[in-house]
Amino acid sequence: MPSLSEFELIRRFFTHPARSAVLGVGDDAAIVRARGGRELIITTDLLVAGRHFAADADPGKLGHKALAVNLSDIAAMGATPHWATLSIALPGADARWLAAFARGFMRLARRHGVDLVGGDTTRGPLAVCVQIVGDVPKGRALRRDGARAGDDVWISGTLGDAALAVAAMKRQLSLPRRERAPLGQRLDAPTPRVALGERLRGLARSAIDISDGLIADLGHLCERSRMSAVIEFERIPRSAIMERHLERAAARTALLAGGDDYELCFTAGRAQRGAIARLARRLRLKLTRIGRIVRQRRGHALVTVLGADGKPMRLARTGFDHFG
Ligand code: ADP
Ligand code: MG
Repeated sequence: MPSLSEFELIRRFFTHPARSAVLGVGDDAAIVRARGGRELIITTDLLVAGRHFAADADPGKLGHKALAVNLSDIAAMGATPHWATLSIALPGADARWLAAFARGFMRLARRHGVDLVGGDTTRGPLAVCVQIVGDVPKGRALRRDGARAGDDVWISGTLGDAALAVAAMKRQLSLPRRERAPLGQRLDAPTPRVALGERLRGLARSAIDISDGLIADLGHLCERSRMSAVIEFERIPRSAIMERHLERAAARTALLAGGDDYELCFTAGRAQRGAIARLARRLRLKLTRIGRIVRQRRGHALVTVLGADGKPMRLARTGFDHFG
């Protein structure tokens, strides 16, 4: 890297005080102190330019998102995040780009008490790999395989806005300019539901974060739990912008099967409805019950979506639509 040596780059942009670590950036590896009686939760996500983001993406937003998608996985486990590593391949050492990237990354890290304790830096096609280590009290992690027949299915926030932004970018549907900005914000700067995940321990029976779309991710939860889900289209939480465009198949597809939401989908027994409503008020976060977990039946889909008329909808090539 001509303008900036690798070591200079690491020192300037990626060396920050790591209060929660015994030893952070600068040695061959980091040292952290595990707390007694807790289990470590480890997750990582690799983002590659041209596949997960555009090569000319805003670096500050990229720094935020690279960490946010990992925090979302930590949240879905009901864990508390502590330590992150950042491995990055860069085509060149552009100080302005790096400063903006590090700012976006560190701002979100600080908000969640996460210390950047190490990583790797190399020249190469732009790619960013973040790993986070968190912890939970022993045996208390939220998993995908805990759903039981009769559980309610819940969703945090609203779904589909990020996918709607992508659909507009691909010109699958046209949106007025004033709608594109807030949707773009949902795509570029997702809010990982970390506080929700932590407080769902002992309340939810299973959880997953929605990164590949509601149908796919709820399907994964059902598969792991050996259950099915029946949800109601009308109950699926959506933004006012999404509501305005739901006449269009592309919008319905974004709501049901879009991606990049980074909301939590979780299941809980009926007895928890009151506690979950109180939690929503305390966190000032919308939590919506959209359906229930049922036993699997041969020949039935893992996830059935009922339309306003009570009849199952199906995913056509152009989007979700009613039979016939
Ligand atoms: P090594 O050659 O032993 O892999 P490096 O020279 O790659 O060590 O890294 C030196 C130190 O800088 C290590 O502590 C490493 O974890 C840290 N580091 C390297 N790149 C990054 C990065 N992008 N973000 C945070 N820490 C980094
Ligand atoms: Mg190295």
